[in-house]
Amino acid sequence: MIISGKELSARLKAEMAGQVSSFPEKYGRVPHLVVILVGDDPASVSYVTGKAKASQVVGIKNTTIRKPVDISEDELLGLIRELNADDTVDGILVQLPLPEHISEAKVIETISKDKDVDGFHPLNVAALWQKQPCTLPCTPKGIIKMLKTAGVEIKGKRAVVIGRSNIVGLPVAKLLLDENATVTIAHSRTADLPSVTREADILVVAIGRPRFVTADMVKDGAAVIDVGVNRDPETGKLCGDVDFAAIEPKASVITPVPGGVGPMTICCLMENTIECFLNKMTPKKV
Ligand code: NAP
Repeated sequence: MIISGKELSARLKAEMAGQVSSFPEKYGRVPHLVVILVGDDPASVSYVTGKAKASQVVGIKNTTIRKPVDISEDELLGLIRELNADDTVDGILVQLPLPEHISEAKVIETISKDKDVDGFHPLNVAALWQKQPCTLPCTPKGIIKMLKTAGVEIKGKRAVVIGRSNIVGLPVAKLLLDENATVTIAHSRTADLPSVTREADILVVAIGRPRFVTADMVKDGAAVIDVGVNRDPETGKLCGDVDFAAIEPKASVITPVPGGVGPMTICCLMENTIECFLNKMTPKKV
């Protein structure tokens, strides 16, 4: 079975649109997401455009602020601080990657934790690992939703995550652990990777290398989630980290690229923006 992130995200966005349509009456306005794009890298431009389109579908106000590639770090941090102080802004996202002269860590730290719709702020990350309420990072959150929607049992299963980045590999592994899977995290120094991946009931691949995972690395009946977004060196088309054509017949479920994890990431960004808005509008009593 192919898990279509495109279809699932369309369904979830339609549900969110229904929810958001009641906000003007209840709260006087809709959630407001501000996306900052530095420079004009084509991939980043396309991601930012996707976020604006999704906001429109859901009924969220989206402001995209474009800044030149040579904007200074101080100026960018100053802009973020202004948006932190702006009560009409609920979510702030700075599109990564940033030019080398700007510290991504400083940018992520400067965004207020309460407006950190990406779930990258150190306090959100710490809360995730301490099982405290937090904004979950979008891609890992989307992956868990896809597995659950496809009816994949996670509890008690053996999950292998290839990749240990802060934005995908590590948080996916943590969320799978929280769902009571037994989790192995593999990386570039893992010895005999195929022997590790062949043990996986659930295999999540987040490496960034076209068709790196071949059919011999996958157990029969495994659920395979392909996070990678690459250009096929031969055709120039988008492709994932797994050899989809060869693995699809032996997997129980598999995500395609494009149309798999990508749309779910944007869908969860919408959900996170609504959550940040509602946290502000209906603060929990302490
Ligand atoms: P990253 O920070 O570059 O991390 C890549 C990970 O892959 C690292 O942990 C690295 O291991 C591991 N790796 C590299 N070569 C390997 C090998 N030969 N064997 C085993 N592990 C290997 O990348 P990322 O940000 O996590 O992104 C991964 C992919 O997901 C990229 O294609 C990215 O574009 C895509 N992505 C997609 C979405 C989406 O919404 N669909 C969101 C985010 C990212 P070491 O730690 O040992 O170096």
